[in-house]
Amino acid sequence: MQNSDLLQVAQNYGCPLYVYDADKIVSQYNRLVKAFNKIENFKVHYAVKALSNVNILKLLKNEGCGLDTVSIEEVLLGLHAGFDPSEIMYTPNGVSFEEIERVAQMGVQINIDNLSILEHFGAKYPTVPVCIRVNPHVMAGGNANISVGHIDSKFGISIHQMPHILRIVENTKMHINGIHMHTGSDILDVEVFLYAAEILFESAKQFKTLDFIDFGSGFKVPYKKGDIETDIEEFGRKLSKRFLAFEKEYGRSLTLVFEPGKFLVSEAGSFLAKVNVVKQTTSTVFAGVDTGFNHLIRPMLYGAEHHIENISNIKGKERYYSVVGYICETDTFATNRRISEIHEGDILNFKNAGAYCFSMASNYNSRTKPAEVLWRNGAAVLIRERETFEDILRNQVEIDI
Ligand SMILES: *Cc1c(COP(=O)(O)O)cnc(C)c1O
Repeated sequence: MQNSDLLQVAQNYGCPLYVYDADKIVSQYNRLVKAFNKIENFKVHYAVKALSNVNILKLLKNEGCGLDTVSIEEVLLGLHAGFDPSEIMYTPNGVSFEEIERVAQMGVQINIDNLSILEHFGAKYPTVPVCIRVNPHVMAGGNANISVGHIDSKFGISIHQMPHILRIVENTKMHINGIHMHTGSDILDVEVFLYAAEILFESAKQFKTLDFIDFGSGFKVPYKKGDIETDIEEFGRKLSKRFLAFEKEYGRSLTLVFEPGKFLVSEAGSFLAKVNVVKQTTSTVFAGVDTGFNHLIRPMLYGAEHHIENISNIKGKERYYSVVGYICETDTFATNRRISEIHEGDILNFKNAGAYCFSMASNYNSRTKPAEVLWRNGAAVLIRERETFEDILRNQVEIDI
């Protein structure tokens, strides 16, 4: 996808616009599979919440990928995209027992992350295979909002509660077929991860009937120059070696599972916005774009830095800008950022806009959500229409006032 392609796509479909490069998604998937090619049973479950357009799910399904879901709606999306229930993992947190029952009845793999549900579910459905999400309490870096391994985290069953887990399993005679951890996004330092993996192996030994071990995600992708990226190849070599040794020790063949979201789709995404105003104040130059945190919330929510390029003036002289959105409260995408000279009407490309961007978009300020386009085989195809004003009114019930 060249900048000239992106400019053309912006012209054809308008801004703001999300564009995803299908080849990039597939190549990330293949990179992960290749890094673990020593493992006979290796499975990737794409975390739907990162980017949930049904076409993205189908694209990954064609590559042999499964799904990781966190809501019944994501499960339904996966089934709609043609996934077999057995290829879907459901990892809810704090949802109702009724929702878990409904998903289990669909034949989807259930992953339980608290003792009370485990006890209740085991008593009622002792024959339904269940995976257990443990919290190994290992974390390193990352934003506090996306770190889920710390001691106060609401995710997973604490590793220190293993005796209680075992008592429930013994009492209910429930069938535990998998063990899982997800220590959070953006923290994949290989050594820290391997340490957490050891804790998971230790817990796995407590169960005799496992079919898989799911190591979650946490793969770090570079958002800006100088960002550290998880060395997938090194990670693959090291974890594979350890996993194969564990499998021998365990005495039963196991599937190694990962469930990345960001790693698969982040870099494939571009978010295109048009500059409405260039405003010089006494202290800074603002570039005001035709979008805001209603469409791309990561900078405001996590302090995430998305690299921004002025694709209308790639070779222009660089100057310092604050790029701001149109929402009527603080709405800053970037402060004091070097970008090639911006003129009103230019198109800015926010890079790494594949994961947690459109999927977190809202209608705040009564704005419509952007369109989504897939770039595939050298051409653009629309995969989600831009919302219209009718969508803003759609579920509102107008009463006599
Ligand atoms: C969000 C999530 C993922 C994906 O995390 P990424 O950082 O996008 O790779 C994986 N597993 C679970 C349980 C999640 O909640």
